[in-house]
Order: sequence, then structure tokens, then C-alpha cells
Amino acid sequence: MSDVFDRVPGQGAAISYLRQAALRPHHAYVFAGPEGSGKALAMRAFAAALLCEQGGCGTCRACTLALDDRHPNVFIVEPEGRDIHVEAVRDDIWHNVYRTSPEAGRKVFLVREADRLNPAAADVLLKVLEEPPGDAVLILSSARPHEMAETVMSRCHTVTFLPLAEDFVVRALEEDGVSAEEALLATRLTGGNLGRARRLARDEDGLSFRDAAAEALGYVMQGPDGAFAAAEVVLKAAGEYRKALKKGLDRDLESFRGEDGRPDEAYRGIINRVEARHRRRERRAEHDYVDWVLLAVSAMLRDDVMLALGGDPDWRVNLDLDREPHVGAVRAARGFGAVERARASLAEETNLNTRLVLEQAFLETGRALAA
Ligand SMILES: [Zn+2]
Repeated sequence: MSDVFDRVPGQGAAISYLRQAALRPHHAYVFAGPEGSGKALAMRAFAAALLCEQGGCGTCRACTLALDDRHPNVFIVEPEGRDIHVEAVRDDIWHNVYRTSPEAGRKVFLVREADRLNPAAADVLLKVLEEPPGDAVLILSSARPHEMAETVMSRCHTVTFLPLAEDFVVRALEEDGVSAEEALLATRLTGGNLGRARRLARDEDGLSFRDAAAEALGYVMQGPDGAFAAAEVVLKAAGEYRKALKKGLDRDLESFRGEDGRPDEAYRGIINRVEARHRRRERRAEHDYVDWVLLAVSAMLRDDVMLALGGDPDWRVNLDLDREPHVGAVRAARGFGAVERARASLAEETNLNTRLVLEQAFLETGRALAA
């Protein structure tokens, strides 16, 4: 019947459950499954099915806006820094859930990375889950459902998403029109994360983070001074990425402008929310980009280790690069460890100075490669 769910590949069981659930929804769900398994895609599709008069046709105004995170009745909560703070749950859920929806029909609340709700935020959410209004549906998602509060979990229906196999992600990209070679490369560079692999294959600058990684690694090989040059290369590329992201905001908001080019008053609420979301993304942009670069550096060193040990070149992540390993397996492995330690500290602490983290990571990597 409804074809909005056809956009979520490889999750047959979850999707057939959601098709049924859309007809007679429960008040809250947790979409549980690893990063890149299609939870975000499924959240949008389910929201569209709940808001569309035909149950998720995929083409009407309600579907189009919901699939693009821009429907006035969809409220989105996501981490700010490392946590989801109580203010976000209060402002976006509590203040709206018992009110009349901006447009006729249901209200849908999406909580992304719900394992990051801090205790105070989880308490407010729990109050809503204990007395949910009839016209609201809450959809939480998490790659670490075991880290969520049991009290929250027990009031939601869990929908399980399975990890996607490499050849499945490759085929999905090929069906989008991506060449076989590019599809395999994008899949490996993103560790099989379908959403990221799609963006990487589609965006013109999709591989810029890997170019920055290759240039940075070149500098790192030159010794201690190279570490600072390498950090500079990465920060410059991250700045470009952030600028491009900012341009996306204006494009997103254009659809809300009237003929005089000014925002339509009726859309004030959703425009404010889209703007706030973009500011969050923009603040996170540098941090995310730096992690992609470090991941790419560690993938190159991993390839070096594998090749130095006589592994099959077809097992490389960077299938398109003809890099000759410059150092032996042991040094490359130590370098790999240094980069992964830097990624771990970046993930744990979002307030760290990115430049310092990078310089430190590259200094240690350089030392490991030279030792
Ligand atoms: Zn529709």
C-alpha cells in the first residue's frame, strides 16, 4: 500500500511492523539498531505515514515536508554537544505536546540518539510518556538502547533495526545510480553506514575529508613540524565544510518565503526550529568533519598494516588509492593506535579545543611512524 516505506532498504521486518503500526499507532516507539542501519530514514518515513492523509503516499505536501524534516507538526530533539539537555525536552516536547498542533492532524516528536538524554531530560520525557495525549506520537532512536533509562524504554514499543551487510549497502548505492567502484569505496570509507555512504557518493565534495586526510598524513610523515601543518590542513578543510553547510540553511528556508521574499508568518514556529537545528549542526560541523578526517587517516594506516603483512589489495578501504606503504606493519599499527586514541577523546569530550586534539594526535602519530 503506502510507498513512503519503500525508501528504507534492508529492514523488512521493522518496516512491515511500521506499516501496520501507522494504521493504529501506539503513543511511543524506540527504533533500536546500529549507526547507519536506516533508523533516521525510517523515522522520517514513519512520521510521513502518520501525517499523510493517505497513510504515507510519499508525494503529497505532508509527506514531502516530513521526509525533509520540515513539517510544522514534527518536533525534533537531538543532542547539543554530548547530551540531550532538559531545556530541549521542555521547549520542544513538553511545551508542545499538550497544545493544539500547528496544523490539523497529529503531532510527531522525534528524539534522535535518545541514549544521550541526561537524567533530568529523561525525567521530563517520562512524564509525557506516562500521560501521553491521544494525538501525539513519540519516536526515539538509539544505537545504544541498553544505555537508555529502563523507565523510558518500558513505555515504548521497540522496533529493531539490523546491521546492513557490505554488499547490501553497495547494491543500494548502485540502485541510486552510483558506479560499482564508487559504491564499494563509499561503503568502506563509511564503515557500511548507508546514510553517510549515500551523502559521500552524492556530494561533489563528498571525498574532501579523505583528500585532507591524505595531505595531513603526508605532512605527519615529515616529522614534528609536519604535525602543525597537518592540523592546519584539516582545520581549513573543516572550515570550508562548515561554510557549505551554512548555505544549506538558506535553501531550506526558501520554501517558507512568500512572494515578497519574506518568511510567511504562519511558518514562524517551524522556521525557528529549522534555524535552531542548523545552528546546532553548524556548531557540530567542525567536530564531525575532524572525526571523519581522523577516521580516514586511520583507514589509510590500517591499509598500510594489512598490505605490509601481505594482505590482498582487494581488502583495502581506500580501493582507489595506489599508496605504497611508507613504514612497516608495526609502525603503521602504532600510528593507527595513536589516531584511534585521539578519536576516542574527541568523542568523549565535545568541549575540547579541536586544534589541540589534532596537533596532539598528529604529533603522536608522527612519533609512532618514525619510532
Ligand atoms: Zn502523502
